[in-house]
Amino acid sequence: MNIEVRDLRKSYGDGEICTKVLCGISCYIESGAVCCLLGPSGSGKSTLLNVLGGIDRADSGSIKIDGESIEKLSIRKLSEYRRSKLGFVFQFYNLIPNLTIRENIETGVLSNKPLPINELIETLGLTEHQHKFPHQVSGGQQQRAGIGRALIKNPDLLLCDEPTGALDFHTAKEVLGLLQKINRDYNTTMIIATHNAAIAGISHRVIKLHNGGIKDNYKNTKIQ
Ligand code: ADP
Ligand code: MG
Repeated sequence: MNIEVRDLRKSYGDGEICTKVLCGISCYIESGAVCCLLGPSGSGKSTLLNVLGGIDRADSGSIKIDGESIEKLSIRKLSEYRRSKLGFVFQFYNLIPNLTIRENIETGVLSNKPLPINELIETLGLTEHQHKFPHQVSGGQQQRAGIGRALIKNPDLLLCDEPTGALDFHTAKEVLGLLQKINRDYNTTMIIATHNAAIAGISHRVIKLHNGGIKDNYKNTKIQ
């Protein structure tokens, strides 16, 4: 799924207390790419991710997904786009505490082309943990379950907001390795918002944000 963004603008409030959060963002993300949205806290990463995911709206500008403008979609079409094409991964996993790891992953079955669950759980390295509850597994395993819940519908685009933000270095590396593997195996386009520059190393494209604007945007030719 390719994404073309033209002159996205968004601000909160008005007059003296107007905060410009997106100040004219334009970029292109190739289908099948892992794209890293890199920037310090407050630079607008989550806002941009949410606007791309159709869970927030910009004030102006356009987003074309495979050539189709999402801002022109009806509410019903927009929710269909989210449900069938997108997967979301969050910093703090957002698992349901009284469902097992497997049941949490099953809550993500929202499309008519779900991946086979046993195979996915195997890929995630969760086979022996699938019947445990979130509090009985590690942070890395919880995030794997969060990724599984987003992936089971076999989305075309995976949006990850600080997916390794709550993990230690070693576990973060493992989770990133998993995302890389999924990108290769399923050709899922991925956008990863992060302040961790190491993620740029495994991304095909790096977009650096600063104060709501693009500071740098380049193709990474030396993927690790
Ligand atoms: P990041 O994810 O890079 O940390 P965000 O997209 O969360 O950045 O936020 C960018 C800026 O927008 C911040 O300055 C933040 O304070 C501001 N912001 C985000 N949401 C709101 C809101 N609902 N009301 C006012 N300001 C907001
Ligand atoms: Mg954020």
